[in-house]
Amino acid sequence: MYEAQRLSLVEKIHQKGITNKEVLKALNRVERHLFVPKALEHHAYTDVALPIGSGQTISQPYTVAYMTQALDLKVGDKVLEIGTGSGYQAAVLNSMGMKVYSIERQFDIYLKTQKLFDEMQLRIVVRFGDGTIGWEEYSPFEGIIVTAGSPKIPIALKKQLAVGGKMVIPVGDRNSQVLITITKIDEETFEEKEAPQFTFVPLIGREGWSQ
Ligand code: SAM
Repeated sequence: MYEAQRLSLVEKIHQKGITNKEVLKALNRVERHLFVPKALEHHAYTDVALPIGSGQTISQPYTVAYMTQALDLKVGDKVLEIGTGSGYQAAVLNSMGMKVYSIERQFDIYLKTQKLFDEMQLRIVVRFGDGTIGWEEYSPFEGIIVTAGSPKIPIALKKQLAVGGKMVIPVGDRNSQVLITITKIDEETFEEKEAPQFTFVPLIGREGWSQ
């Protein structure tokens, strides 16, 4: 379903500067309409964020593509996502062959998305909890992707990133953020690159916003 609309969205994202072929192929494979509420299905292939209930959103497809490209992962890499939400971003990473671990702090969203992953037979490991403290048990991760806006970079996430790995995280105030891509050079040294003007829902937790 929606093959033509999906292809046209992928072409638009390519024109907006996403060049990684594996990312573009994954966006063409993963059916975004399965991750949005039924009533909004017909908007699934418009390049916009959409509400998924409980005050949360599924990110804009361009943002998903940008963040996935920024992680620069290879097949088999372990990646930690903070903010499972609809599950779409995790499904894109999973379809590219990464081992995905994802944390969601809203219980209703966590339950719904875990059920969806089971129905779709996606092997994505999901946990309910505060992602700002990471998931030490499975660390280190070659990639960490934070899909909610944070006032700062959580220290636990920097620790749980593998040397040579990348983290992509929106940092700023509650209304607008810059997207920071951090590369871990060694245990003490991190390199940062910034891209302006992204807007995410707030990251709420011990090392995020208090509410
Ligand atoms: N990656 C999602 C997708 O593909 O649909 C987009 C998620 S939405 C923009 C951000 C999500 O982060 C929300 O579901 C929100 O409940 C969750 N969130 C906010 N703070 C969090 C935290 N500290 N730990 C885990 N999840 C958090």
